[in-house]
Amino acid sequence: MLRQLLPAIVQTCSEKGVTFTLNISLDGQANVHDEIRQRDGSYNDAIESLQIAVSLHIPTQLQCTVSSANVYGVEGIRHLAVKFGVEVVFRLATTISRLNNHEKIRDISLTDHEKSFFADFISSPATLKKTKQPNRRLLYLDLARRLTQGGTRRAPCYFQHEGVMLTSSGDLYTCSICDSPMGNVFKQSPYELYFSPRTSEQRDKMINETCPNCLHDQSGAWSPIMLAKGMLANHPAERLLKRCRIAASFFTNGPIMLSSSRRFSRNKPTLPITEHSSNLVKTALLIGCYGGEHVGDAAILGGVLMRLHEDFEIEKALVASFRSDRTRRWSESLRDCIPTEVIEYTDESIEKVLPTCTYLVFAGGPLMDLPGVLIRHLSTAIKAANLNTPILIEGCGIGPFRLKLSMAIVRRLLEMASSIRLRTQASIDIASAWGLAARLDRDPAFDYLDMRAKQIGHKPPLPTMLQHICKTPRKLVGINLRPLWQRYAKGHLRPQQMRTIEENFLAELGQAMKHFHDTIRFVFFPMNPDQYGFSDLSVAYALKDKLSLEIDYHIWEYEPNVDEVITFLQRMDGCITMRFHASIFALAQKIPTIGIDYGIAQQSKVGDLFSEAGLGDNVSSVEKINHQWLIEKFNSIIES
Ligand code: SF4
Repeated sequence: MLRQLLPAIVQTCSEKGVTFTLNISLDGQANVHDEIRQRDGSYNDAIESLQIAVSLHIPTQLQCTVSSANVYGVEGIRHLAVKFGVEVVFRLATTISRLNNHEKIRDISLTDHEKSFFADFISSPATLKKTKQPNRRLLYLDLARRLTQGGTRRAPCYFQHEGVMLTSSGDLYTCSICDSPMGNVFKQSPYELYFSPRTSEQRDKMINETCPNCLHDQSGAWSPIMLAKGMLANHPAERLLKRCRIAASFFTNGPIMLSSSRRFSRNKPTLPITEHSSNLVKTALLIGCYGGEHVGDAAILGGVLMRLHEDFEIEKALVASFRSDRTRRWSESLRDCIPTEVIEYTDESIEKVLPTCTYLVFAGGPLMDLPGVLIRHLSTAIKAANLNTPILIEGCGIGPFRLKLSMAIVRRLLEMASSIRLRTQASIDIASAWGLAARLDRDPAFDYLDMRAKQIGHKPPLPTMLQHICKTPRKLVGINLRPLWQRYAKGHLRPQQMRTIEENFLAELGQAMKHFHDTIRFVFFPMNPDQYGFSDLSVAYALKDKLSLEIDYHIWEYEPNVDEVITFLQRMDGCITMRFHASIFALAQKIPTIGIDYGIAQQSKVGDLFSEAGLGDNVSSVEKINHQWLIEKFNSIIES
């Protein structure tokens, strides 16, 4: 029917000079969409409509209304839109009095953690790049700001002065949010209704009281300056400019700061705890790559907090983050740790809190080639040294490096530290080569994972979503894959070369999975579903595209916390892991695990981890993997 109707509609519109675009509402993949729409098969209908429209070359756009019921599936919708070559508009589920949906919206409105996740998604380069209209990019950036920092709407809206909303019964509203109509066009002239003093008063009230808090995605005419900003948002020129700015700061300030920091010899040795005379609560200021973390980094943070409390009697931690909402999401999910407060990682906030802190701690994560981060860390270390605040390096890894200046800064940071505890032998070797004594200890995430596994016990009840996914008589194998990253390749690789490596790997994995289509249910679990550190979900959907329908493959569309990942893994008979911390989580649960080393032309941390654990036979390079090897490994999982 649609195949016949659509061309007729397009033809009529064209004859009347009306622009026609087909909007298809899609609120999630398969059952998620069906549940939201409360009708089985509605997802298939929507996809069929999309296929027809695309095959007829009809301008089409997807619309996704985001609520707590589907917020973690937004990447799946974007992936689908890209696959069909159409654009998708994301909008927040909004209270509309006229529809009397207050209670429903209250039930599905986003929590703070979900707001933070969605804000990351709509302001990410991946989403902005796929959003053609500059005004929509600006709208997303404005919404992301409001979701994470609060504040009022800056986005303009045509409905304030130029639009109306007309219902099928003839009621005329100033906009779709407005709860009382101007009147009914079947009873009164629309002109009179629109220009009446009552409407004018109603409109002023709306502009002053409702619009500042309105989350609706209606847009309007932005100022030319803002529009230019929207056009540049995530433009290659803007990205290049940003990189140039960081590089300029790094290569000019880096050597100056390095030389000024040389006046500090090794920082004061850490005082035995009893010698600290202050009556104040012993507080540590933690710095690292906070703001770009995922559940693995949350486990590291938990482990670092445990160590700081046990070894240094720290009672409170301040965590400096360049995206505090994201870090808060993770710190609030930690259990049985010292109180933690997240602050913005700015010069002002560091200068304010550092004098109240007992230690400055470089906590977890790698001290590697991240120029923008390193320069800021060196500046903070100099401030701490000026205050005679001891510096600790706790649970970090060192490298990899391409830039000599990065290496020199990391070396300086280590030289300024009073205590260094590193998480790999390779990092210890680097420190030794620099003439520095450092202790080797396991990744702090292990400490936190052990503690949590004991606390939550064996196989606690699964969350509802996982109950559905894990209910099967088949063996369960968890899959975690990460996107490849140029920084983990030896030498320069073109994006196309990286894509080819990923495609080949997914094809081999898909072939191996096919072999077990009737014996194993495969469940993808994202360790990092947010966009900052390259979302694992992008690979989950790419893998799905490679699989035939007979393969029992599910994607856990979620941002799980540490306890939830542990609970999930306890149900798995085996795992295949590519993220370093997915490997740590799985090995800590003593699950048969196959590791995929993401290093290209060189071994990454995953290979090191498996080798150091005596599991070198269970890890393969992403470049060299083949389906026979995977089949052999899956067989051993089935037989175990
Ligand atoms: S901003 Fe919201 S409340 Fe104001 S006119 Fe637009 S849609 Fe209506």
